[in-house]
This record gives sequence, C-alpha cells and structure tokens, in this order.
Amino acid sequence: MHVLSTAAQVRAALAPLRRAGRTVALVPTMGALHPGHLSLVRLARECADVVVVSIFVNPLQFGPGEDLTAYPRDLDGDLAQLDPAGVHLVFAPGAGAFTPPDRHTVVTVTGLSTVLEGASRPGHLDGVTTVVAKLLGVVQPDFAVFGEKDYQQLVVLRTMVADLDLGVELLAAPLVREPDGLALSSRNAYLSARERRQALALSAALAEVRVTWDGDADRARSLLASRLRSAPGVRPDYAEVVDPETLAPLHGMVTGPARALVAAGVGRTRLIDNVGLQTLNRHPGPRRSADHQDRHDAHAGAPSMSAPPRLTELPPVVALALAEDLDAAGDLTSLATVDEGLLVSGAVVARAAGVAAGTQVAAAVFAAVGVDVAVVLPDGSALAVGDAMMTVAGPARAVLTAERTALNLLTHLSGVATLTARYVAEVDGTGAVIRDTRKTLPGLRLLEKAAVLAGGGVNHRFNLSDGLLVKDNHVVAAGGVGPATRRALAAAGDLPVQVEVDSLEQLDEALNAGAIAVLLDNFGLNDLPAAVARCRAAELAVFVEASGGVSLETVWAIASSGVDAIAVGALTHSAPALDLGLDL
Ligand code: AMP
Repeated sequence: MHVLSTAAQVRAALAPLRRAGRTVALVPTMGALHPGHLSLVRLARECADVVVVSIFVNPLQFGPGEDLTAYPRDLDGDLAQLDPAGVHLVFAPGAGAFTPPDRHTVVTVTGLSTVLEGASRPGHLDGVTTVVAKLLGVVQPDFAVFGEKDYQQLVVLRTMVADLDLGVELLAAPLVREPDGLALSSRNAYLSARERRQALALSAALAEVRVTWDGDADRARSLLASRLRSAPGVRPDYAEVVDPETLAPLHGMVTGPARALVAAGVGRTRLIDNVGLQTLNRHPGPRRSADHQDRHDAHAGAPSMSAPPRLTELPPVVALALAEDLDAAGDLTSLATVDEGLLVSGAVVARAAGVAAGTQVAAAVFAAVGVDVAVVLPDGSALAVGDAMMTVAGPARAVLTAERTALNLLTHLSGVATLTARYVAEVDGTGAVIRDTRKTLPGLRLLEKAAVLAGGGVNHRFNLSDGLLVKDNHVVAAGGVGPATRRALAAAGDLPVQVEVDSLEQLDEALNAGAIAVLLDNFGLNDLPAAVARCRAAELAVFVEASGGVSLETVWAIASSGVDAIAVGALTHSAPALDLGLDL
C-alpha cells in the first residue's frame, strides 16, 4: 500500500495502472476510520481493480467554532486498518497545500446545500463539494464511494457529478451501526459513556419510525421530533421526512420511498442519523378518526414492538464464555506448545456462504485477551466462501486461547443471520417481513436479535415488559379471547398489544374486543386468506402476523396470503452454525 501526500505523486502512481486498463475507485474520508469506512472500502474493492482512500480532515467543511482542531486524527491506526483491507493507495494531503488560503474556487450545489445540514452548518456542504471535486480531479476515479450515513452529502454529490458531467459513478454504501443501533461515526469518540447511552435516542427514534411507517409523513415527522425532544441529554436540531432524491419535505400520505433524517446535539457532540422508509403494512386501511388514530398509535401494530437491541455494553456473555474455557491454570496446551513471545496474525474466514453477525462480540472476545482485532465484514455483510470477516494479530497463545470462544459466538450468530436472510429472500416481493420470537438461547437474546436484524429480519419483543402479547394460556386464564384482549388493552398504556388467535372465531372475538394487532397461530394455508380478509375489513388497520408451521418450504405461501409479518421461532432456536474458521 502506497501512502502519498501530493496530487502529483498520486497521478504518477495511478498513470501506469490506468494505462494497463485498471479501473480505480476512490473512497474519500476524514480518517479516524471505523468499520463504516471499511464497508466503503469493501464496496470499492468489489467494483474496481484499484482502491484509493483519501484521508483529509477538510477544513473547508468546518464552520467557525466547530470541532476542526479536536477532530480525531490517527493516521497510523488508519493505515493499519487499510493495509489488510486491500487498499492500494492512500492519499493523505497536508491541509495547507490541499486547501491553500489563496484559492478562488468554491463548488456550490444550490438549493440542496442550504437545507437540513446546510441550514444548521452554513457553508459546510460547499466545503464538502469543493474538496470532493478536487479529489475527483486528482484521482480521476471510475467510481467514488460514499456512505448513506451522510445521506444529504450523498444527494448533493450526486447532483454535482451529474450537473458538471464529471464522468464518475457514485456508489452508496449502507449505513453501518453498532449492535445497539448507534450509527458508527468518528465523532462517537467524543461521547462519554452516559452520552453514548443518550445518543441511542436518535437511532431508536428512527427505528421506531421505520417499523411503524405507514406512509403518513407528518405522523412520522412528529413522532421523531417528540421522541428526540423527550430524550434526556438530547438537543434536537432537525427531524425530517423527505423525498430521498430531492430532499424536499414530504407531507400527507406518501406511497413511494421516503427518508427520515435527524440531527441532534449530545453533550458537545453533534450527531446525525437517517433511515430509509418503505411501507410495511400494505393495507393501511381507511383514514382513521383522531380517536382511533391515537389508540392505534398507542397499541399499534406489532411492528412498534420492534426496536434495535439495547446492547449498551459488552454483554456479560463474553466473560462467561471465556470463563467456561479458562480457569486459573489457563490454556495448558498453548502454554506447553507455543513460545511465549511468538506473535501471529490471521483472519476469521468464511468456509460457507452466509451473512455476518456477532462480529462485535467476537472481536470483544479477542480484545479481552489482548489480541488486536479489526472487523473487515461487519454484521449484515454477505459472506462468500473464502472471505475474511475479521483480522487478528497478537500473541499466539492469546489468539489460540480465544479462538474457540470467538468462533462459537460468530458461527452461531452468523448462522442466525444466514437463516434469517434465507427466509427474507423466500418472501421477497410479498411485502411480508420476517420476525423473530422469544425462543432464544438463554443469555444470548440481544445478540441473537441483532443477528436477525443483520439477516434482514425484524425484531419482535425483547422481553415481557416490552409489549403485551396475549397467548393461548392467557386466554384460558382470563376466560376467553374477548376478556383477555380487553384486559390487556386496558392495562397497556403506551405499549403495543398483540393477540394470538388460533381460529376464525377467536379472531372475530379479538377484533370485536378492539385488537389492532393479531397473531394467527397455526392457521393453515386454507384459513389464512379468510383471516387476512377479515382483518383488512376491520375499521382500523389491523397488523396481521402468522406463526406456527413456518418453514423455508411453507413461508412463501404463508406470506402470499397477505399477512404483514411472519414470526419464525426457528431463526433463533434452530439455526445451524455457519462454517467459519480461523486461518493463521
Ligand atoms: P467521514 O470520514 O466521516 O467524512 O466519512 C467518510 C465516508 O464514510 C463518508 O462517505 C461517510 O458517509 C462514510 N461513513 C461514515 N460513517 C459511516 C457509517 N457508519 N456507515 C456507512 N458509511 C459511513
């Protein structure tokens, strides 16, 4: 990997490669790299022969009083991550030379650069476009990769490239999050432990809006705003629902795609986050009266039970799992056979195709015994046979000691994500989502639920106080579906209520008692369409989920009945481990 600091050096290094017909992808960054940046590098590698990463803390995109001098800088750490990631050239220009004070040119994308971030940070996006235009001029790449984390920036740069005919293809990489939902950002380093917990309000609000999205842009906007306003320690800046291409605010009922964007201060740190919105409930039903709408919002459909796992610290499972293998005597075999000072490096490699999950917790296992670890393919990445998921480097004894524990977690959780992805693929095009259940392995629930998200599934309740799910034995205890439903609705307050029914008669009872989220358990393919039709005919938009008898063979037929979701216990209780190994 070449590390160069001038435009002339970069041009000279790339010229022979270009003459040899190699395609080039550029990944512009400001350094302090994290797995979000590395996902951009991976996309670049998939598209082009040569990957160039620029590292430049661009002074033009910082306003007066912003964090230019405090912005984290760690060139050595960045290079150590980029080298194993297959980057060919790093361009790290000096600030003085790259943005000299005597320059005259500013690139402005009018309109788009003065809303949202542009309104709060005047000149910020002009600073981005001016420097990205210059980087594109130096590298002249075939592709340039940007993250959806900075969604507005992506839209602005696309417009710049189209308007100026710059002849580069812009690629967007999905936003990478921590297992608990927090969007990865170099600025997260500023957050104290308390602020980091408070910062979760942004991703949690967006997750809530995403899973409850029914096309009502105004409702989504006010829900976002109210969640941010009521979050302790959070100073909301904006909460918007916009057209994903024009960034124009959306109002009323929306049928096409939308994007929700938020910005807020937490402590001294300004954070941004966003999600794409697509309608999950294909049958939003008639416009509801205000009264009904309130009740619907309060109890609404089971999707609102879903939020990202609240994994705010390293799970105790890391300590427990390591303790299962280690007692005071340590790893006797490694102590006997491996020299104390021997250092090794290697990678966890996929031996079967699948979807990555559990990378953070596996990394934590290695880190806990003093091994340097870098996640190359974060949770949610598609794995091909031979892909390196994470690299490890450190004392051989420590690597071997942690290997089994890390792989146990990684193979199981990636197995959950892989199975989820298979179910999600089976129902593609039907509009139904795949949800997990509480049938999780003791101690692993949060991690397994994060793995379900990584596989493209949606989370159900995390625990018994997350929402009310009236099941068969509650019905028996309460003396019928009707009484059980009414008692649950009366007690629920703000929490969602879902009622499990096992026959059309029970379904009618639940709907008559006011249920607006039902779980059709073991209905069989003959009765499902009739049950869905009854729910669609109800006055309120009823959220309909199916469960029982779900397998990869039956799930498509179940989804085709028109249900909104399918609960699949197998995702967590029966997922086979994904074959992964550590190659040194
Ligand atoms: P920055 O170094 O913050 O300027 O970011 C450089 C590039 O990485 C931009 O295209 C960002 O959108 C992208 N990026 C930063 N954080 C993430 C993330 N969490 N997920 C995906 N892309 C990201």
